[in-house]
Amino acid sequence: MIDAHYDAQDIVIIGGGLSGGLAALALAREGFAVALVDEQSPAAMQAEAFDGRTTALAYAAARMFRRLGLWAALGADAEPIRDILVTDGRRAAPGRKGFVSSFHLHFDSRELENGEPLGFILENRHLRRAIYDALADEKGVALLAPARRMRTDFGKAAAFVDLADGRSLSAPLVIAADGRHSPLRAEAAIKVNQWSYDQIGIVATVAHERGHQGVAQELFLPTGPFAILPMTENRSNLVWTEAKAAAPAYLALRDDDFLAAVRARFGDYLGAIRLAGPRWSYPLAFHLAQSYIAPRLALIGDAAHAIHPIAGQGYNLGVKDIAALVEILVDARGVGLDTGSLSTLETYQRWRRFDSASLAFGTDALNRLFSNDFAPLRFARDLGMGAVNAAPPLRRMFMKQAGADLGRLPSLMAP
Ligand SMILES: Cc1cc2nc3c(=O)[nH]c(=O)nc-3n(C[C@H](O)[C@H](O)[C@H](O)COP(=O)(O)OP(=O)(O)OC[C@H]3O[C@@H](n4cnc5c(N)ncnc54)[C@H](O)[C@@H]3O)c2cc1C
Repeated sequence: MIDAHYDAQDIVIIGGGLSGGLAALALAREGFAVALVDEQSPAAMQAEAFDGRTTALAYAAARMFRRLGLWAALGADAEPIRDILVTDGRRAAPGRKGFVSSFHLHFDSRELENGEPLGFILENRHLRRAIYDALADEKGVALLAPARRMRTDFGKAAAFVDLADGRSLSAPLVIAADGRHSPLRAEAAIKVNQWSYDQIGIVATVAHERGHQGVAQELFLPTGPFAILPMTENRSNLVWTEAKAAAPAYLALRDDDFLAAVRARFGDYLGAIRLAGPRWSYPLAFHLAQSYIAPRLALIGDAAHAIHPIAGQGYNLGVKDIAALVEILVDARGVGLDTGSLSTLETYQRWRRFDSASLAFGTDALNRLFSNDFAPLRFARDLGMGAVNAAPPLRRMFMKQAGADLGRLPSLMAP
């Protein structure tokens, strides 16, 4: 018997970021009564100053946004990625031209038989706005924000969630979408493998003279990857991975000097460039939960796995978590099973943990392999890149990986 003091829901989601918000919408569309809790207000989370990042939304993840009806609000702000160019480049030493290796990889979306771009670059603020606008029209979602989760008790038939403002919720299942430091994961005593990369992601948007033709560039520099991601309106988003010790000096530069440092890496292939917004910085770290489930609890998004942005796959993994979990919960409910029981949740863990752990370790290895200037390693990796570039089946496999289209796809992400 559940205490009447608790507001009973089918599912309580803690964390209303990109993962929690999308999960609430997808679950409500399937008829679940969902409470979505975030300690920040929706207005603050949608403010321009909240997040300067873009997301490379893989083509299979974009299908889910279409199926949920979000594309009408997103399409005009989504820049399709037609090609990805990966180059083992080194920045120019003062007074010298930058060295760019002749070994490179070119992924061309036209080689895939589905005719879709490899993905879409979307500003995080646009993703948040589309999700929150849709949530506002969704009767199945009770949005509790700002509201901080304080404590959760995991009972035999339900979990009980206490919020700092005195409100209380109960549900057979609680979903942790509360980010890479996930306090809820810690409260459930789920251990996590984690380390810092000693790197900072410097993020900025530049406007440029010439068109980018939908080409995303990844330059591997000794301090880390430097990504140039095509945006709408002749703009590109830069994700410049820099050593932790050096990043503060770059972030403190005057705009002109910062642009000069960008140009030394970026080159002049897009003509003149200028800053089109503030600079941002994100400390980079690896977090992988040792279990994605506990009785009455499922972890999704960064609460389950936070990975290096080198391949732009962190949120795409979260989207796949959500699509898989929704499918499993709908199936369980359909045959009268308990949605929060360990046996239901084990199906989710079996589906998602191996897939996301392999990508997490793969991106970790990629970052270690390329974020250095050790000549023998550079030679070996350049040979590897040349070999992949010369092999169409391997190229197609990597393109499917970039499109989040490998392995078993949940129906929300299927073609
Ligand atoms: C530089 C950079 C570039 C990236 N680029 C890409 C990319 O191109 N493609 C891609 O797929 N991914 C990318 N990512 C990864 C992506 O940004 C993240 O995976 C994604 O934002 C994670 O969202 P989330 O909702 O899981 O977590 P978060 O955004 O961390 O959300 C967690 C939420 O939980 C709330 N919360 C926490 N504790 C509580 C509490 N006690 N009570 C209530 N609420 C709480 C917080 O307020 C927050 O809103 C990038 C990451 C970085 C750093």
